Amino acid sequence: MWKAIKWISIALGILLLLLVLIVGIYLWKHQRFGFYASGGPLSENQAKYDVTYYDLHLLVNSRERTLAGFTDVVVRSLVDGLDRLELDLIDNFKVRRVSNQDSATLSFKHDDDKLWVDLLEPARKNQIVALRVFYRGKPPVAIRPPWIGGVNWSKDSRGNDWIGLSCQSEGAKIWFPCKDHPSDKPDSAGIHITVPVPYFCASNGLLEKVDTTANGWLTYHWKTRYPINNYNINFSIGIYEKVERPHVTLQGDTMPVVFYYLPEHREKADFHIDMAVDMLKTYRKFYGEYPFWKEKFGLVEVDYLGMEHQTINAYGNKFRYTTIAGQKFDWLMLHEMGHEWWGNKVSVKDWADFWIHEGICTYGEALFRLAKFGEEQYHRKMRSIMKGVQNRSPMIPKRNATSQEAYQGDIYYKGAALMHSLRFWLGDSLFFDRLWHFANDSAYTYRNLVTTDDFLKLFCAGQDSDLVNYLEMFLYTTRLPEVRVDSLGEKTYRLSVPNIDFRMPLEVELGNRIDTLRLGPEPVVVEADSFPRVDPRHWYLIREGKRHPKGRAAF
Ligand SMILES: [Zn+2]
Repeated sequence: MWKAIKWISIALGILLLLLVLIVGIYLWKHQRFGFYASGGPLSENQAKYDVTYYDLHLLVNSRERTLAGFTDVVVRSLVDGLDRLELDLIDNFKVRRVSNQDSATLSFKHDDDKLWVDLLEPARKNQIVALRVFYRGKPPVAIRPPWIGGVNWSKDSRGNDWIGLSCQSEGAKIWFPCKDHPSDKPDSAGIHITVPVPYFCASNGLLEKVDTTANGWLTYHWKTRYPINNYNINFSIGIYEKVERPHVTLQGDTMPVVFYYLPEHREKADFHIDMAVDMLKTYRKFYGEYPFWKEKFGLVEVDYLGMEHQTINAYGNKFRYTTIAGQKFDWLMLHEMGHEWWGNKVSVKDWADFWIHEGICTYGEALFRLAKFGEEQYHRKMRSIMKGVQNRSPMIPKRNATSQEAYQGDIYYKGAALMHSLRFWLGDSLFFDRLWHFANDSAYTYRNLVTTDDFLKLFCAGQDSDLVNYLEMFLYTTRLPEVRVDSLGEKTYRLSVPNIDFRMPLEVELGNRIDTLRLGPEPVVVEADSFPRVDPRHWYLIREGKRHPKGRAAF
């Protein structure tokens, strides 16, 4: 009897394990919950064309949690004889039909998150090819947006639908057919979203019109005429109120600054939007005018922390402000707004260089303090940023990285620390001039995508090889300069940085004065009344060999 019970228990246990395994495989296979990556090596087939335009027409059904409609994908062939188009679209969606610009039906295969479309005749080089993909399905539900993205099917405090979408890590293939690679930024995009009355849909660019459909739903027609990364194409749906302010650009044009907020936050909206206008003016001192001034700067309240969606930044920091010298500001809004320059105007073509988006943008939070509150607050912020550096793996993992391979905290903190040390190395006049150029030279902006090499060439131009060596060590390794200070007798000290093969400018506190010395593996002997302090203002991430014999990084 007991034996039988034992065997039954074992059998039930195995059955349960099998069930868990089957459900696990099903969820993984059908990718119901995120875990997609974007980018990586560009496939041979996707290298054959360049996307010029996406036009999305989708009905959002919150009850069924579906998206349904069609997306137009317009591409330019880069080769003679392009006969098959490889697009990305996750298998959650069922593709009903694909047609060309003459509405002729094309044959296609949709499998393994890829949509393969056969063209009726091969396209010549530079020929424009337009496809219309009809599809419907359930996009992944966001698990931990914006880090593990998808759609947030939330409710506001009154029980109304409050829907958001984030897909920087996953790529736009989780909701429309696209070439899901950072190297291909379409020149513009149309977003046409249909929702029930009385919902509002906020999106990129300008709202061109609102239509009523045959069954009484509303279609919001948005369009951006600027190049846009595919993860920035976005919508947020809710019962929103709107507050708007004018922003006068340096060229004298007036652009709207708009905030779509939940009615429960009405009293906070005025202060919040004024803060946005002030931040735009502060940033442009360093970066030049707001990049998308022909359209708008937009903010929309969402139920996740935030994301830099171009011209419609997602805001979910719940109005938790930082106060410095009696002035309040919102760090999240400041961060996402910084991405309008770093990420949206200046965009990387390989996620390997993700640090350019996050590192320079995070550095901007210190620049904001510099402009508003002075050097001391700038340094205080930089010290706090540098404390966040983990330095467990290089900021640039490898070339042709996926978004997930490249994403780590150090692309923010160590990236910002790199900019901070560069400011010291180059001096303010050169550093701020090059920063401005990086944000404004057409070689680096809008449709012209950048790499770390572009960054190095620009910032190191006219400098000796020491700077390149320093920056490359910082970007491609976890090595940090280790400063050694030896006492040679009364008031005489020997300084060196034995673990580097170049020389770097370092401030050294010698008694009551601070000198800047070029230090490297070759020792430099100095005289001082007290033990010299190297880099007392913390311009660098360095290890102080003498002070910290265990090699602990000193920030
Ligand atoms: Zn960011």
